[in-house]
Amino acid sequence: MFQEKEQFLTTDEIKELQLERLKKQVKRTYKNVPMYRKRFDEAGIKPSDIKELSDISKLPFTYKDDLRDHYPYGIRAVPIERLNRIHASSGTTGIPTVVSYTSKDLDTWSNLMARCYSCAGVTENDLIQNAYGYGLFTGGLGFHMGAERLGALVIPTATGNTKRQIKMMKDMGSTVICCTPSYAVFLIESLTEEGVDPSDLKLRIGMFGAEPWSEETRHHIQSSLNIRAQDLYGMSELYGPGVAVECERQDGLHIWADEFLIETIDPDTQEVLPPGTRGEMVFTMLTREAMPLLRYRTKDLAVINWEKCACGRSHPRVMRIRGRSDDMLIVGGVNVFPSQIEDVLMSIDELGEQFQIILETDRLDHLNVQVEVSPAHWGVAEKVLAGKVEEALQATLTLRARVELVAPGTIPRTEGKAKRVIDKRKMI
Ligand code: ADP
Ligand code: ZN
Repeated sequence: MFQEKEQFLTTDEIKELQLERLKKQVKRTYKNVPMYRKRFDEAGIKPSDIKELSDISKLPFTYKDDLRDHYPYGIRAVPIERLNRIHASSGTTGIPTVVSYTSKDLDTWSNLMARCYSCAGVTENDLIQNAYGYGLFTGGLGFHMGAERLGALVIPTATGNTKRQIKMMKDMGSTVICCTPSYAVFLIESLTEEGVDPSDLKLRIGMFGAEPWSEETRHHIQSSLNIRAQDLYGMSELYGPGVAVECERQDGLHIWADEFLIETIDPDTQEVLPPGTRGEMVFTMLTREAMPLLRYRTKDLAVINWEKCACGRSHPRVMRIRGRSDDMLIVGGVNVFPSQIEDVLMSIDELGEQFQIILETDRLDHLNVQVEVSPAHWGVAEKVLAGKVEEALQATLTLRARVELVAPGTIPRTEGKAKRVIDKRKMI
């Protein structure tokens, strides 16, 4: 098993490593990053004030805007000459967030991703088809480097060209598929269209992440492809994919706590919450050289569980990440998470997997949900079905949604992250 020792560190060993690394990292960061030095000085904090792990709450937070304010080369503790690579988020809505890596950072990241594969049950004998996007996005290269570090065979198909994707899967005998869960759902439809029987494929594990997905979607993928569908979490600011992954128990994602110090906070009061309470995840990178982020505010909401997992690992688990605080929609004053809508829709058998949430306003806000009907139920008793969906949504959201049932295959599919929400209120 790759990095067996690191995967099976005990809680005491983890905490000891965390404290030792935190002290060192805070010192380095204070010395080399002007932004942090200024913030520490303003708050009257010195690196030597960090004596216990809980002293971390004295440190200032770091926000995505801090990264944007340091565009293009970002918050850095090393000169540009020492960088080996950059990645960047899409930046379609503003200044892209650029993140940077030294060769040691790339090495650490490769190890973390290889550790994720290993924890999920992938071995050096696997044939890993990587259908994440290669380029500035961290997904493609992150999954790629990890697979190579593991010693497996990588088939770098990248996104798109679904026919070729399927051909490679068949011809090469891929045993592992890596892509977004929404693309996996699309692949299943395409297999049916191409007349390929999933039992003729050699797939056994899927590594799915980069966006929230529901337990129902997992069941759909697992039963359609006859594989184990593993959830993996990451973000470009924290190297990329590889921060946390599910073990074979599929009971939460293990966060690699020897590299990432995790806290959960109340996003409004900024108060640190006890483990087991839902809050915003805040990460401190314990060894990153180029961009040592302290207390980075992810906006991702989750619950952290420090109980030892049945698999024997003590790395804390983040229970499924079901939405970001900034994904939350406020519709007529009611808070709605797209993941709540997904849960309701996926629990109704007659519906397909694709949906879109459209928000409109005249003087009042309207929540419209467009959802595909499954091929077997299309054209049958639609009025009754629409009423059933509206009722189910109302029961969960405490809000009336207008439901429009559409034909299978009509909602646009994506190769990367799905775009589920169209907020027309912002377009006026
Ligand atoms: P971008 O910001 O360009 O979309 P990132 O890949 O850095 O690129 O996006 C990271 C975000 O994706 C996370 O903060 C989280 O909201 C979401 N995400 C990643 N993996 C998962 C996952 N397994 N489950 C839920 N959300 C995820
Ligand atoms: Zn486990």
